[in-house]
Amino acid sequence: MREYWEQQALLQKDAFLADLKSFLAINSIEDMSTAAAGKPFGEGVAQALEAMLDRGVHDGFQTKNLEGYAGTISYGEGDDEIGVLVHVDVVTVGEGWITPPFEPSIRDGKIYARGAIDDKGPALAAYYALKMVKDSSLPLQKRVRLIIGTDEESGWLCMKYFAEHDQVPQVGFSPDSSFPMTHAEKGQINPTLTIPHHVPLGNPKGLRLVSFISGDQGNSVPDKAIAVIDFDHDAKDEATFQEIAGGWAEFLRLHQATGNLKQTEAGQLHFSIAGKPAHGMEPFRGVNAGTLLALFLKTLSFEASEYSFLSLLSDILHEDHYGEYLHMACEDEVSGKLTVNAGILRYNQQEGGSVRLNIRYPATISCPEYVEKLERRVDELGWTISNLRTSKSHYVPKDHPVIQTLSRVYEEHTGMTAHLLSSGGATYAKIMNAGVAFGPLFPGKESTAHLANEYAEIDDLLKAMAIYADAIYQLAK
Ligand SMILES: [Zn+2]
Repeated sequence: MREYWEQQALLQKDAFLADLKSFLAINSIEDMSTAAAGKPFGEGVAQALEAMLDRGVHDGFQTKNLEGYAGTISYGEGDDEIGVLVHVDVVTVGEGWITPPFEPSIRDGKIYARGAIDDKGPALAAYYALKMVKDSSLPLQKRVRLIIGTDEESGWLCMKYFAEHDQVPQVGFSPDSSFPMTHAEKGQINPTLTIPHHVPLGNPKGLRLVSFISGDQGNSVPDKAIAVIDFDHDAKDEATFQEIAGGWAEFLRLHQATGNLKQTEAGQLHFSIAGKPAHGMEPFRGVNAGTLLALFLKTLSFEASEYSFLSLLSDILHEDHYGEYLHMACEDEVSGKLTVNAGILRYNQQEGGSVRLNIRYPATISCPEYVEKLERRVDELGWTISNLRTSKSHYVPKDHPVIQTLSRVYEEHTGMTAHLLSSGGATYAKIMNAGVAFGPLFPGKESTAHLANEYAEIDDLLKAMAIYADAIYQLAK
């Protein structure tokens, strides 16, 4: 039925583009300053949700608004249900846009706007797919529900609310990732490691770590670190400063890093260094500015708790992307290696040291077992764990019918093999027992989600629309 769905998708092109432009023009960044009853994530997000639901009502679907947290557009009857999970909230815009992010602009067959590929473009394509299935009047055995979330980019409170007030489908897909499909998503362990500050008994060199600041999100690699160091009384002499400055210059050269050191009038030393930002699920793609700065500072002489902070950062966490020094290294065939990111690093004389980690564990391993390993190791190092948050991993076996069906549809439509993917990130697919992330980005295409000048290729959205229609039909027939 590939040709039929492709033709139908092409017939939708003009209407779809007009709809897409007005949909993308809604600024649906979460804005709690305009939050109210029925609009828990603010005015813009609520407006985007209503735009989808209004379209559903207009086209004769049954719709439901769950107090602004989520919405559903359903078609068909039956006890069994297929879920298609999308989201209408978008991330903040950032700098560097050529055309305004909420004034959709078409250039070279691409539509540029915040949300074009993540996830409003795919969400609308999935809606049109459902409409094509309805208009075809082909008989279905199962009910299909498009479930629209509003808080995917932040706390997933939308899906929490949905799960508490409605029934989550067991089987389905989420058009919020890449083709062919992601069947395994890593789980997360997010602890804060802390160590108190001890009053020094006396330090031969008299150095003190006044403050250390690096990173502000657990799931990002810090791209900057700053530290302030002070001396005790008579150690402030010129010779010491020259010695440290010389070592610092050599260190920067050796690590090909950009940094700065200056001495204030009061004699304090201010260090800063640049790293390379990356997503916390791929720490090996970045350079952690915090652990790098600690690597240098540890060569100076500090008292016990300051030294312990610097040595945790430099001896254990620096470039320990796979958790070997944390004694947690492991991997599985479907989702690869456990990864560790040290995202927020702090020290000051009042509170001592703290390090927020974002650990992503392979989809098929046991989370409690690895939390225990972490606890043992942290204890051994003389640190304490606080504010521990975990989230489960997700895995649908290769031979599950949903994967078989979606693979067949994908292969028919593209002529390519449906190699299964895994991810360190999470999509709504993990909410469904047998849920996979399915498209919309085709293999080899650039992902501009969360970046400036985000775009979607219009032909690709239409192709995805045809695939989604076929997929909905094949899963529900
Ligand atoms: Zn998304």
